[in-house]
Amino acid sequence: MPTFVITEKCDGCKGGDKTACMYICPNDLMVLDPNEMKAYNQEPDQCWECYSCVKICPSQAIEVRGYNDFVPMGASVVPMLGTEDVMWTCKFRNGVVKRFKFPIRTTPEGEANSYDDLKGKDLNSGLLSTEEADGRNFPTPTELA
Ligand code: SF4
Ligand code: SF4
Repeated sequence: MPTFVITEKCDGCKGGDKTACMYICPNDLMVLDPNEMKAYNQEPDQCWECYSCVKICPSQAIEVRGYNDFVPMGASVVPMLGTEDVMWTCKFRNGVVKRFKFPIRTTPEGEANSYDDLKGKDLNSGLLSTEEADGRNFPTPTELA
């Protein structure tokens, strides 16, 4: 389900040229109503619920109604962006609240190398990068231990 803006919380990013949600949306869906100074999702059908705007909004004014397959009805999933991690708060309709924290990055800034795992692989072999020559896609638990 697409994002929606809680208008009472949105301050239009205090009138900047481009609001945080407009800046971050990979699909250019978020726009600002300059008269009301409130943002909204101009084309909800095109929203893929990537949560980028939800995480970046400094006023926590954007929410996503999650699909029932991962968020039970009446529940909510709200991220809080920190400098090192994102704290996710899951509220269930029976009142249970669970929180978990994920780091924003796993390598120091500027040192991520997406090709590291491909070292020594034959990129012309036709196999997936995670696939072994014997057809297995993933290491066995013993190999991981
Ligand atoms: S980022 Fe948040 S506060 Fe800023 S315009 Fe968008 S919804 Fe409003
Ligand atoms: S959830 Fe992602 S795609 Fe949807 S409006 Fe926000 S940034 Fe854009």
